[in-house]
Amino acid sequence: MQTIGILGGGQLARMLVLAGAPLGFRFLVVDSAPDACAAQVAPLLRADWRDFDKLAEFARAIDVATFDFENVPAETAHWLTEHTRVFPNPRALAISQDRLAEKSLFREIGLDTPAFAAVDNRDDLARAVERIGTPAILKTRRLGYDGKGQFRLKSPADIDAAWSTLNGAPSILEAFVPFERELSVIAVRSREGEFRTYPLTQNWHADGILSVSLAPAPHSDVLAPIAIAHARRIAEEIDYVGTFALELFVRDGKLLGNEMAPRVHNSGHWTIEGAPASQFENHVRAVLGLPLGDTTALGVNVMLNWVGELPAATPILAEPRAHWHDYGKSPRAGRKVGHATICAANTAEMHERLARIGKALGREQQVEPVLAVLG
Ligand code: ATP
Ligand code: MG
Ligand code: MG
Repeated sequence: MQTIGILGGGQLARMLVLAGAPLGFRFLVVDSAPDACAAQVAPLLRADWRDFDKLAEFARAIDVATFDFENVPAETAHWLTEHTRVFPNPRALAISQDRLAEKSLFREIGLDTPAFAAVDNRDDLARAVERIGTPAILKTRRLGYDGKGQFRLKSPADIDAAWSTLNGAPSILEAFVPFERELSVIAVRSREGEFRTYPLTQNWHADGILSVSLAPAPHSDVLAPIAIAHARRIAEEIDYVGTFALELFVRDGKLLGNEMAPRVHNSGHWTIEGAPASQFENHVRAVLGLPLGDTTALGVNVMLNWVGELPAATPILAEPRAHWHDYGKSPRAGRKVGHATICAANTAEMHERLARIGKALGREQQVEPVLAVLG
């Protein structure tokens, strides 16, 4: 029986455990928080990322290490490679931790990005605003997630406010893209180099946080093979092993790379019930060097994210093929506390089901953009 160690004990770790347990694998989670949500389903070793005595204990107890949290310090990831097998590799992790390295990689492999410039001081920012123009977004190179560590500049008059809000952290300025839509590729590559992707997912964000996903993304016949080829090139370039997400904007019908996540991803949660093998199961398979599972989509799938607090579960539980996920976290503004996945045979059935659910939950606004594209 093999044991998989997970650095980070959030809901992603929890879902990895729930996917890997039926295959006979054991898990050990490292997190400094006593109430880490994965501790509900797996043993927890409490340690912070530089507690190398505890991490040595962790490494001895596992067969392979992986991540639920993408911002584990590079030093820790490197140290671990000397004590156990680690997937994805520390270089892949380091690139996706840094927006500058990440966007540079996208360009190298031929994926366009929004115009961007590195910003290390206030003068850089002023020059970048001159070159890129406004509106623009200043993003910290590191540690940002769920739209945190970002400042939207409407005009050059916002330069000082942007610089002081981000506390002078090394950043990049990006052109604001008035995109037609946002897509993500959920991809997985195994230790043997086998590569698979799920059908493209279309995503809607609210306040910088994922709100709704729809898969397969409609009207994507032309873009899907291009997006998938980009994901494959990225994975091969950095010898990536495991599940990852590539976030894309569609502007004037063309793809622009936003960022990648070196882990299972919120926009792939629909694969738990909407695909024969979920992104979580495939991550487990990939890091253990096993054959990958089937990534086709079963019908049409919508994921609704619960941010801040959970709504009533009953309207979801009352629907056929609707699935409820409560991460067991205490409610807090801006915190991801659960999600629901609704599966249907076709778009007409999805439209009907989703409209009913939106109304019953009083979440008409959240489901509205999906209903619009389902037609
Ligand atoms: P995540 O939780 O996905 O890791 P993050 O904090 O890393 O989020 P981004 O993905 O860069 O942040 O941005 C969050 C959202 O903000 C994007 O999905 C998109 O909706 C919007 N956004 C980000 N950058 C741009 C841009 N250059 N132009 C327009 N919208 C943008
Ligand atoms: Mg991100
Ligand atoms: Mg993002």
